Amino acid sequence: MTGASRIHNFGAGPAVLPLSVVEECRAALPNLNGSGFGLLEISHRSQVFQDIVDSAMARLRRVLGVPEDYTVLFLQGGASLQFYMTALNLLGEGEKADYLLTGGWSKKALAEAQRVGDAQAAWSPDESGFKRVPNNGEYQIREDAVFVHYTSNNTLYGTQFHHLPDSGGKPLILDASSDIAGVPIDISAHDLVYAGAQKNLGPSGVTVVILSPWALSKVGDGIPTMLDYSVHASKGSLFNTPNTFGIYVLDRVFNWLEENGGLEASIARNKAKSDLLYGELDRTDFWAPHADKDSRSVMNVTWRMANESLEPVFLAEAEVAGLGGLKGHRSVGGIRASMYNGCPLESVEALVAFMRDFESRNS
Ligand SMILES: *Cc1c(COP(=O)(O)O)cnc(C)c1O
Repeated sequence: MTGASRIHNFGAGPAVLPLSVVEECRAALPNLNGSGFGLLEISHRSQVFQDIVDSAMARLRRVLGVPEDYTVLFLQGGASLQFYMTALNLLGEGEKADYLLTGGWSKKALAEAQRVGDAQAAWSPDESGFKRVPNNGEYQIREDAVFVHYTSNNTLYGTQFHHLPDSGGKPLILDASSDIAGVPIDISAHDLVYAGAQKNLGPSGVTVVILSPWALSKVGDGIPTMLDYSVHASKGSLFNTPNTFGIYVLDRVFNWLEENGGLEASIARNKAKSDLLYGELDRTDFWAPHADKDSRSVMNVTWRMANESLEPVFLAEAEVAGLGGLKGHRSVGGIRASMYNGCPLESVEALVAFMRDFESRNS
């Protein structure tokens, strides 16, 4: 495998990783950090692996600016398990929680919370078809809500919050699965942030959960062991065998982020990529972008074509031209370009060049 034969990967997740990280994995497979143990063959109780956990946590804290008194966990079960765990741990008997419904993932989060307690939608987009996120003042949080949950980036629809949602003074819980470490997120303004790794941070199978002291103290009694945040916190995420490979990759991705200018530079790279693509989409009405302008996602760009019958042709020709993973999610249809942290600017340049060529041949 060489870098040159890799496709320009716009897949929504698991998603493209920096080639240097992929190559570090390859080198570590037979022998991890000179230990003689292969990356997939080493005990999670070894010092070599403990050093990797510690390094990954320290790098994550530095890059994301996690407050010192917050706890970081590396769990399994994906973001989808967090839909349930957040409510199970934080919503006590008879307590209420409010959800901002901005797409498919927040709907699923709400449905899981409703298994636990009185969870309801504080805002849902009625006729807008998830083309935007709410502005502050457009919804009301219940006086006695215990927390407010939102999804910062809506992976399927290509919309994103560009402001901190007003939670009416209640603790904020955030699903940041598809924009963590790619946009400015003030961790200290939240009480719990979770993210599956497979979009911006690494492979599938490891989920980052960041908890404030309030969130940890709120964890109720009698929660099944594997679902109890306080169990995982007390064992430094090593209560049982974690996803050792995933944590290794996470550490390498955060190392790559640090070596490439940290969060600020990551934000700038993602903005440059999305500016380039939205610029092309706005240049001509050959394309029909889905999201309202002020809710546009920098991570997942979704669009239709004015002539929808050309969409399958576009996708097929794109694949032949070395541009993969562009098929839109069925909820919007059309085309979606996911441009997470690991997606290089050159891929977006290649996409835009292909779009111009396609337009000139088909209009
Ligand atoms: C992908 C995604 C999920 C689901 O993640 P899993 O790890 O597959 O459970 C949840 N929320 C958001 C915002 C996502 O993008």
